[in-house]
Amino acid sequence: MLSSILNKKTCATCQICCVYDDTDVWDAPGFTKEEFDRNNIDGRFEWTERDGLYYLKMEKSEDGLYHCPCLTEHGCILREKKPFRCALWPLYVVRTEDGLGIAVSDVCPAVIQKDNESILKGIETKLPEIMDMVDKYPEQIEEFHDNYRMVAVQKNGTFGGV
Ligand code: SF4
Ligand code: SF4
Repeated sequence: MLSSILNKKTCATCQICCVYDDTDVWDAPGFTKEEFDRNNIDGRFEWTERDGLYYLKMEKSEDGLYHCPCLTEHGCILREKKPFRCALWPLYVVRTEDGLGIAVSDVCPAVIQKDNESILKGIETKLPEIMDMVDKYPEQIEEFHDNYRMVAVQKNGTFGGV
């Protein structure tokens, strides 16, 4: 979804966002029922359901980290069927006082370096799809966290700079 602002080669050597530690394992993606079904998660992985979303079970590895079971040395095995949360990463739809906003996480070493204008321009054509998704699944809307930077806020239904 974010190929306009992310370079595949950078991601191939990074993969930070598919591995978690004790402080950010809460951020592992929740699959909607539709995403859960289209990826045949049941029977393929262990999973748990919480607040309407489905989470893959991850055990802490010897390195002290939690590795998403979909991650292989060639990247995510779910490919274009990966869940919305992963497709949108490192961006989040967050609540603001006036409506919704788009925020970027500082965990991604690549996108956090980009300015808000270029991020917003890069996702401009995807915004209707993103908004349709959160309309349908409001549980995909996140709270704003300290390590996020607000990229754009919604005013009168349109996203603009902060
Ligand atoms: S953290 Fe950013 S650069 Fe690293 S793999 Fe994820 S999206 Fe790519
Ligand atoms: S589902 Fe795929 S993209 Fe998402 S965290 Fe797991 S490996 Fe990464």
